[in-house]
Amino acid sequence: MLSDKDRIFTNVYGLQPASLQAAQRRGAWDGTKFLLEMGRDWIIDEMKKSNLRGRGGAGFPTGLKWSFMPKQTGDRPHYLVINGDESEPGTCKDREILRHDPHLLIEGAMIASFAMGAHAAYIYIRGEFIAEREALQRAVDEAYAARLIGQDNIHGYPFDLYVHHGAGAYICGEETALLESLEGKKGMPRLKPPFPANMGLYGCPTTVNNVESIAVAGTILRRGADWFNGIGRPNNVGTKLFGISGHVGTPCVVEESMGIPFRELIERHGGGVRGGWDNLLGIIPGGASCPIIPAHLCDDLIMDFDGCRAATSSFGTAGVLVMDKSTDVIRAIARLSYFFKHESCGQCTPCREGTGWMWRVISRMAEGRAQKREIDMLLDVTKQIEGHTICALGDAAAWPIQGLIRHFRPEIEKRIDQYAANPHIDPVPVAA
Ligand code: NAD
Ligand code: SF4
Repeated sequence: MLSDKDRIFTNVYGLQPASLQAAQRRGAWDGTKFLLEMGRDWIIDEMKKSNLRGRGGAGFPTGLKWSFMPKQTGDRPHYLVINGDESEPGTCKDREILRHDPHLLIEGAMIASFAMGAHAAYIYIRGEFIAEREALQRAVDEAYAARLIGQDNIHGYPFDLYVHHGAGAYICGEETALLESLEGKKGMPRLKPPFPANMGLYGCPTTVNNVESIAVAGTILRRGADWFNGIGRPNNVGTKLFGISGHVGTPCVVEESMGIPFRELIERHGGGVRGGWDNLLGIIPGGASCPIIPAHLCDDLIMDFDGCRAATSSFGTAGVLVMDKSTDVIRAIARLSYFFKHESCGQCTPCREGTGWMWRVISRMAEGRAQKREIDMLLDVTKQIEGHTICALGDAAAWPIQGLIRHFRPEIEKRIDQYAANPHIDPVPVAA
């Protein structure tokens, strides 16, 4: 278990004010000028040594990403873009940073921008996050007033920070769709490569990082890469905000060590599984795109990138959705399938057509109105979508269905048999 002295987000429950004064008492903006004086190369090297992996879901090494930005800053402006479009179902961790610890994010933005030669950064906030945007804007205004940021700030590095409010489209959380949206266009993902470091916002070198990845940067640099790298296990280090929701006693967001056993996480912080551990049906470990992990694989599950992969899923955003045995798991996955169909931007055929196709078939299966041979056909369709689309939304739509078929095929077959035995009973349709 993580000790209190190793927690970065000491105000995650908002027990203290989010104001600048209170944030400074908690350690934000402490020695920022000194960190900048250490120089760009030192900052990027230290971030690499910390082995921080991006906290938005994909886990790409943050220091490495920063190092992709061109060293020369003369020809085109450089930008930092912070992805606060937190919309993955089951994920609500960045929201707590925006509400209660925004100064850690603003300080991290200043340091990261300096390291990458950016004089402007944008924070793109999810459309539904109204209170969060207001809290962040208040903190940005305070930072300007205290001359911590701005053209003429006490750190001697001109830096402007803009808060941009999205309009409620999940796809704008995909980094290149987000850039399109920031440019005032429809939020449709771009083909990669080129990656944003070469061709990002307005065609200029850009780094897109998740809110949590940036908000931890100041503390990592203050306390040292070795401290962060010493928490967790190799390839999966540091502290992490976990979201716990679903059928647990006390849903919450908590900062814990990477690699915490799932059972410890849920029992220590989530109030345990509703009805007891034996009542667990399965979990989705890191947001809706991660395949379900059935209960028997949860006993020894380690909550990090490698642990979730070993359990046939992925760690994603660490937004854990817990399902007890009262859950109709086919119906639950069918509902997620509707979500992805609804949020597809529609520009590539396998995703536009495939998400609707998968939703219609899985919805029939949830009602039992299907044939058993369709299970393999559905699996085959998920494989046709996976890896054949412009962005990861196609994969995200395919993986939960693959997980359901992998672990709950007998449930689907049983549902089909039940309906075949009582076809006169009107099934309850899956709600859209
Ligand atoms: P990705 O693996 O394509 O990219 C991750 C990051 O690494 C990107 O910034 C990308 O530019 C960079 N990158 C990858 N390969 C690179 C290379 N060769 N050179 C330079 N940069 C490179 O993943 P993604 O599509 O950005 O994200 C998918 C993840 O997002 C999913 O795993 C899901 O968990 C997560 N997600 C999170 C939310 C949320 O609300 N936080 C919402 C939807 C999805
Ligand atoms: Fe749009 Fe889906 Fe293609 Fe992504 S995969 S670009 S969301 S159609």
